[in-house]
Amino acid sequence: MRSSEFLITTHKETPADAEIISHRLMLRAGLIRKLSSGLYTWMPMGLRVLRKVERVVREEMDASGALELAMPMVQPAELWEESGRWEQYGPELLRIQDRHQRDFCLGPTHEEVITDIVRNEISSYKQLPLNLYQIQNKVRDEIRPRFGVMRAREFLMKDAYSFHADATSLEATYGVMHGAYTRIFERLGLDFRPVMADSGSIGGNTSHEFHVLADSGEDAIAFSDGSDYAANIERAETVDQQAQRPAPAKALNKVATPGVKTIADLCAALELAPETTVKTLIVEGAEEGLVALVIRGDHELNSVKAEKHPLVASPLRMATEEEAEAACGAGFGSIGPVGLSLPIVADFSAAACADFYCGANSREEHFEGANWDRDISDYQSADLRNVVAGDPSPDGKGQLQIRRGIEVGHIFQLGTKYSEAMNARVLDETGRNVTLSMGCYGIGVSRIVAAAIEQNHDDRGIIWPSAMAPFQLAIVPLNMHKSAAVAEAAETLHQECLALGIEVLMDDRNERPGVKFADMELLGIPHRIVIGDRSLAEGEIEYQGRRDADSQRVALTEAMSFIT
Ligand code: ATP
Ligand code: MG
Ligand code: MG
Ligand code: MG
Repeated sequence: MRSSEFLITTHKETPADAEIISHRLMLRAGLIRKLSSGLYTWMPMGLRVLRKVERVVREEMDASGALELAMPMVQPAELWEESGRWEQYGPELLRIQDRHQRDFCLGPTHEEVITDIVRNEISSYKQLPLNLYQIQNKVRDEIRPRFGVMRAREFLMKDAYSFHADATSLEATYGVMHGAYTRIFERLGLDFRPVMADSGSIGGNTSHEFHVLADSGEDAIAFSDGSDYAANIERAETVDQQAQRPAPAKALNKVATPGVKTIADLCAALELAPETTVKTLIVEGAEEGLVALVIRGDHELNSVKAEKHPLVASPLRMATEEEAEAACGAGFGSIGPVGLSLPIVADFSAAACADFYCGANSREEHFEGANWDRDISDYQSADLRNVVAGDPSPDGKGQLQIRRGIEVGHIFQLGTKYSEAMNARVLDETGRNVTLSMGCYGIGVSRIVAAAIEQNHDDRGIIWPSAMAPFQLAIVPLNMHKSAAVAEAAETLHQECLALGIEVLMDDRNERPGVKFADMELLGIPHRIVIGDRSLAEGEIEYQGRRDADSQRVALTEAMSFIT
């Protein structure tokens, strides 16, 4: 490829509104251009990188036995009503209407659509297990789109969904996906870590996130220096820490719902699944009985159950940002900014309010007897604190280290959550009708590009891992418009590379050498060959790897051995 025939749109200036290095470098290198908040165009150079990531993901998914399909991005509301998520998903779901005023959404994920396909097409256990995936743009109306393609409103995701006649088969495919993800991130040359994620009401270690380690990461992960324990911070702070510290927080007063002393009791009272992570939050200034239930993970399922319970007087609704932040800002609960978990407000019936428990701290310990007319500060117990570096690992081996990470993948054993709600069943070997077990597996393809830059850059620009580089080799001829010898040598080398299938960019622009060097470094091309009159007279070129401090003279005849 000649750069004169390509589109290089690099910029010298550092964009003012870009906060993290990957965002700055992607803009400066001209990989992406902003259209509107959270909406980005992938320019030709950037798209080459994105396609590289996509290819690795596709190859590993295919090798794992998954089958690719393509579902529409526009999804009818009816399916989301069946699963209950039309109500529960909240404002991140971008809803639209067609000309007949029918409701649709732009898909943030595809559990409903795929479950609909499978319930129509699959009738026997003999057709299972089945793992279907697509690589497609997703739309989420993120409350705070930021960091460029890292948290965009439209982004490229690989999403896969597996279906099984029983849980054992689901576990097997989950393991295969865990392996495929590990290979994908290894092949992409990323420093990453799989960690246990809070799996909500499903319980057990049935969800893992894959994090690229980077100081700019929005997430924190905890891992032990003495064992394989690794979890995202929410999980470390809730499920695992709670298991490690069963003692309840101190009782604050003696108002009580008989039998409700712990979160588990509360879940039972509300008929939620036993392992649900529920936080009850007093919404400051709210009328009596207004409580925010923050239900992590499986919030959709649980809020449906909670809503049906006689204790709850009116339909659940999403907490407003103000309510949630008022509650969290007061240090009560640990949901952090809205969006991390989904806060849902339940208006409990007056009868329930008379003796119902409320209030839980960030460790999911339910305060005995706490009540809504008390000041929030009353409920802060002295031993409340988050997991910090040096804490004992929940498995009892070693101490926890805390690092920051970027979530690039997430795998999840969903069980029968969607298949039950949407009535997806098959006949098993004995002719019995069984509800399908389901897993889902996401990779943030476009986020990976930004995450890779967070890990691989210097003050001159991007340093692509080889598997992601838009071009492997830059040929920079000096004064080629004046020197016939340079032009000829560059052309010959260019042709040789093309013949060998090497992705080469020959910078034949009529620019000063300094401009070309700066651009090729900014673009992060792993190998560079400079051809100039002086070295050429001695039959040599100058080679420099992107990570090398200096260039080295190499015989022209040996140039190829450096790249291939
Ligand atoms: P996050 O916690 O960052 O909001 P998520 O948990 O909501 O991500 P999932 O539903 O698990 O995301 O989606 C699968 C993958 O899609 C994520 O692991 C992430 O890599 C990617 N992803 C999610 N939201 C975005 C976004 N707004 N922009 C780019 N990639 C995203
Ligand atoms: Mg999200
Ligand atoms: Mg997440
Ligand atoms: Mg996730």
